[in-house]
Amino acid sequence: MAGTATIETTTNGPRGKAASQFLQGGPKKLLIGGRWVAAASGKTFETVNPATEEVLALAAEADKLDVDEAVKAARKAFEDGKWPRMSPHQRTRTLLKIAEAIDAHAEELAELETLDNGKAISEAKNIDIPAAAEAFRYYAGWATKIYGETNPSSPSMFNYTLREPVGVCGQIIPWNFPLLMAAWKIAPALACGNTVVLKPAEQTPLTALRLGELICEAGLPEGVVNILTGFGPSAGGALAAHPGVDKVAFTGSTEVGREILKASAGNLKRLSLELGGKSPNIIFADADMSAAARISMLGIFMTQGQVCAAGSRIFVQRAAYDEFGEKLAALASGLKLGNPLEADTKMGPVVSREQYERVLGYIGHGAREGAKVKTGGEPASLGRGYFIKPTVFVGVRNDMKIAREEIFGPVAALLPFENEDDAVFQGNDNDYGLAAAVWTRDISRAHTVARRLKAGTVWINCYGLIDPISPFGGYKQSGFGRELGRHSIDLYTQVKSVFVKL
Ligand code: NAP
Ligand code: MG
Repeated sequence: MAGTATIETTTNGPRGKAASQFLQGGPKKLLIGGRWVAAASGKTFETVNPATEEVLALAAEADKLDVDEAVKAARKAFEDGKWPRMSPHQRTRTLLKIAEAIDAHAEELAELETLDNGKAISEAKNIDIPAAAEAFRYYAGWATKIYGETNPSSPSMFNYTLREPVGVCGQIIPWNFPLLMAAWKIAPALACGNTVVLKPAEQTPLTALRLGELICEAGLPEGVVNILTGFGPSAGGALAAHPGVDKVAFTGSTEVGREILKASAGNLKRLSLELGGKSPNIIFADADMSAAARISMLGIFMTQGQVCAAGSRIFVQRAAYDEFGEKLAALASGLKLGNPLEADTKMGPVVSREQYERVLGYIGHGAREGAKVKTGGEPASLGRGYFIKPTVFVGVRNDMKIAREEIFGPVAALLPFENEDDAVFQGNDNDYGLAAAVWTRDISRAHTVARRLKAGTVWINCYGLIDPISPFGGYKQSGFGRELGRHSIDLYTQVKSVFVKL
């Protein structure tokens, strides 16, 4: 092993006044029809700080009855309410207010995100929260730019199209970027005039609930956004199957994506699925090796590797394989692991005990399959919390389980390749197709490989860039539909053709 990660022991850490205020004051409630209410069953569940294993708060556990109420509220807001008929200029102003509220509460939201998810506070502050505000700002601009067309029909006809909202949107999101995923879902739906029922992940309900409060303060009419905390099979399942829901947008695992697809069949809901990945990050021997190593390290270890587009299969051309392995291992082992609330921490814990055990299970499997741990490969013993050292496997083959399955943790698999054809073949030889990257100084090879890779996003000489202006989504079993950019507008509108006899 090339050394050990710098380790800091965890404490409960500093808690800003606003975040602790939010955490106090009894169980968190559901947002239904503009009011905060307990679950019909009265049940609650705990949300835990993965750095300390302490309970942060209780949240209401919604089930089918609450889903019925929330869908009813969203339907009423859609059919009778002001939002879908509001002037687009006014919708723009409301969405901008939400973006400003996120900015104004950025410190608090970042702290809540770190407490609930475990990601380093620097990431929450610099990435999650500003990107969530940016998504609202970007889609605020779209509200006034959703055009229909006039079509060259026969001379006695005038034909035009209207782009109308879809209706009630059920949105189910994961725990890795809790506020950002909520923003990616809610902002375009609202820009188009839809109403929403959002179910955050059970591990990370807090920032979605705080966002719900900010949305109410921004003056959104009641019932336009409803937020239900609860569990997947009960709350999420009821939402996906509900006959009163017109569209479901889901981000999460491929396995659950299949369940959502089945559940949505009853009333043929519109569906978009953003699922898992096992993205190939391909490094040719002529690449800028130090940039490739530094950025690839972030590409796999950011948010403890719990990123759907994580570059978890790192292919390095044979001539540079050993050198790259040394570089990556040295960078990984130098990452400061520990209390995620500390400003200089680079890696916090994984999100839950379940995830911790799952990731360690994969690490054990990798070693048994014959891959070699270059660095990491074990938990970081901080006394408590779900900390795993950043792990680099070398000597990995593309048919090993650690190269085929999504680990969703801080585990990089380094694989050698011979030439361009081999890199493309191995890179594409996987069920997923969310993202990919290619590193080379040969401009023509860079673009050729980008075309040949079966992935929804390809990065050239960089990794992990995501911008609300550019579509994001998967090929193959990474899902279908594209979010962000104008593509989310397509997801959240439907087209009506109107013929007028002249
Ligand atoms: P998950 O288990 O699929 O959960 C995602 C969401 O679905 C959660 O809100 C979950 O609720 C809910 N859910 C679970 N079972 C359900 C069911 N039967 N019916 C309806 N909803 C259900 O995924 P996760 O473990 O939270 O997140 C990790 C996975 O998400 C990874 O595979 C990752 O690649 C993928 N992901 C993909 C993207 C992307 O953009 N493509 C982004 C982020 C994550 P509970 O929380 O209660 O289980
Ligand atoms: Mg939690």
